Parts: sequence; structure tokens; C-alpha cells
Amino acid sequence: MPERIRININRSCLVNKRNGHYCRSCMMETTSFVPADQIFKLCIEKFNSLPRTGKPTTNEWTVLSCIIQCDSNSKNAKVISLGTGTKCIGSDQLCEKGLILNDSHAEVMARRGFLRYLYASIRNYLSDGSPLAYNEQTGKYSIKNGISFHFFSTHAPCGDATIVSKSTGDEEIEPGTKKMKLSPEFTDNFTGAKLIAANENTDLMSQDEGAIRTKPGRGIRTLSVSCSDKLSRWNILGIQGALINIFLDKPVYFETLTFSGQVSEISVKRALYGRWRKVSFNSERYKLQMPRINICSPDLKFEFEQTTETDPSPASIVWADVQEKPLEVAVSGKRQGVTKSKRNTISGALRISKVWLFHEFVSTLSSQPSLQKSFYPNSDDFHKITYKEAKFCSEEYQSAWNLLKTDYFQNWTKKSEKLLDFKLEDR
Ligand SMILES: [Zn+2]
Repeated sequence: MPERIRININRSCLVNKRNGHYCRSCMMETTSFVPADQIFKLCIEKFNSLPRTGKPTTNEWTVLSCIIQCDSNSKNAKVISLGTGTKCIGSDQLCEKGLILNDSHAEVMARRGFLRYLYASIRNYLSDGSPLAYNEQTGKYSIKNGISFHFFSTHAPCGDATIVSKSTGDEEIEPGTKKMKLSPEFTDNFTGAKLIAANENTDLMSQDEGAIRTKPGRGIRTLSVSCSDKLSRWNILGIQGALINIFLDKPVYFETLTFSGQVSEISVKRALYGRWRKVSFNSERYKLQMPRINICSPDLKFEFEQTTETDPSPASIVWADVQEKPLEVAVSGKRQGVTKSKRNTISGALRISKVWLFHEFVSTLSSQPSLQKSFYPNSDDFHKITYKEAKFCSEEYQSAWNLLKTDYFQNWTKKSEKLLDFKLEDR
């Protein structure tokens, strides 16, 4: 199954090439760094190459999201992580040992697969395929020149990005953004994601633009915020999260986001960055990004797109470009098919669960004595630290996140700190 495609680089881009990236004005002139339809083809090919287990049946729909790595030197693009899914567990099922996945939406699955890919890339940074290089001066890792990361999804992220404004006139996010002509059957112009109530009289389903929401769904309400909100957080703090942040010189951002299906470019831009543009945020390391948004040709349709006749698939797939267990199927945040005796153990948990990603963090840091020393100067046995302690070592990340919660994400849900208090030896 082909996984790589040639990138057509517009000659005019090469004139304006800066620091291994393509300048924004130049990007606007080209069709795309990698054309949207080619991204679609690459991601669907990857999805089709995976076995049937965990994919929707003919009566079911799902969302497919992928992260793509492009290399402008070798002119190659490849999918490095893939996720499907539309489910989320209720607040009553949260796990204090980090064994169960709270959020199994495709975007989150793909991002967690990407975290596995980054850990593997740090540990194998000397291999040809690693997107990272070791920086002797900082003792950390940098993304190699010419490498960029891109996001693809077959659906607008749930929450704010699915609200299509009916008003006209001043909602243009930036000059040059074309208003999407919505086809008559484009009815998915509201979100089922719920507002985070200021008081008991607030209508949770009110379609206020730009608001933080929890994910849609029936049953006991989830504490997971919508994918629009998560993507918008990654668009400032980076996709790498607090733990991998420790290893990197700079945060990792998506250079482009591509969508197939009925997606409004204006709504995606608002959800991702437009709603925060007037708020100031002072951080040396983290900056609000304005990645390019690409919409695929309308005739390109994902086989399992949402329709009125189909139900959401209960399962999620996650695949990452790593050696060990690259593919897993999740149901209700747990590994599908896990035996009862293993259900509450680390060996029964998904590789993208908190506990396994924490395990990856500890073993990756163990392989970096100088970095380990700078974060744990007085600790001989840092294996005994809790997940929460590890997260809080990423001080710059945490202080930026606190600032964001004050100025941007005031209504972000609060989960019990108990959920972060586990150690690896608790398993
Ligand atoms: Zn979602």
C-alpha cells in the first residue's frame, strides 16, 4: 500500500523560503503545500490498508483524523498517526489509575498516536526516519529543517467549528478568506456540544459562537471539552503536551489543517484562532498560530461519513507509525477484547492511555541522563514520581496554560486532581 506521495512545490515558494518553511504570503499564492485532495487520498489509503476490526459496519458512521508528516527536502509526505471515533466516557467512569481513555474522538486518538510517534522519534533520533535532531547547545531536540506536521479530518471538529454563522458581513476572520457556499443539504450547522453553564438557567444547547463546550452525547455528561477547544489549545501550547515539551526546543504546531465533507472554513478559523485574536497573551515560547485551512473537493467523500440513516460506531481505531503495537481498537476507553482479569491492569490498557504515555515518558527520560538530571537533580529514583509531578515539571508549559485559563479558556472543565495522582508502580 503506497504511503508516500510526491509534493509539488510551486517554484515561487522557493524564492521566499525562510528557515526551512514557506512564508505565509507565498503559501497563499500556491494551491497548497500538499494539495488538500492529495492529503485526503493519502489518509484514506492508510485507513483502507488497516484490517476491518474496529471499523464501522455498513449501518454505522465515524470520523477519521490523521496527522501527516511532510519533508520538503525529500518531497515526501506520510501519515504518521490515525484515529477514528466519536465516543467519550461519562464523568462517572473516569479512572484514577490512568488506565481508561476519557475521550475517544478521532482527533484525540490521532493526537495520542502522534505522542507515541514523538516518543519513539526522540529515542531513535539517530535513525534516518526521525523528524528530530539533537541540539548540542540546548541538550534538547528540534524538528529537522524541512519537516512539518499537518492535520486531516473527515469532519469539522465538534463544538465551535460546527456552528455556521447565519449572520453576514463582519465575520471574516482574515482578509482573503472566502465564504463557503453551503450546499442546500448542509444541515450540520449547529453543535450538540454543551455550553459549560455559568448558572443553572443557562441553556446548554445555546449556539453562542466562540464558547468553550463539553463534548456532545447522551447519558452522564462528560468532562472532556469539545475537539474545537482541544485543537485551539494545541494551536497555542503545541500538540506535544506538557510531558514531551520537556524534550523539545520548541512546541510542535500543525502547519495546515485539511477537512473533507461539509466544513465551513470560516467556522474552523473562528474555533481555532479567530475567537482569541483580540486577547493578548504574553509568552516567549508559545504563540497563537494561524495555520492554513484547506477544504477538499466536495466529490471526495469518506465511506463512513455521518448520515441520517447511520448510527455512530461504538469503536475507535488508533494507529501510529511505531514499531510496537502500532494498531489498537478501543471500546469505552479500553482495549477491545481485553480479558476480565487484565481489565484493570496496565497490560490491559491502551498504549495511548495516560498510564502508558507516562511509561513512555519515564523510559524516554531514563535514556537522557543530562535532561533527567536537570529536571530531577535530587531524585535518584524518579520512577516513583506521580504523573502529576511529572506534568508539573514542565513549568513554562504549566504557567502558560494557567495564563490561558485566565484569559482564553476560562470555562475549561476542571477534573479532580486525584485523576493525576497515580504512579507507574501503582499498576
Ligand atoms: Zn470531537
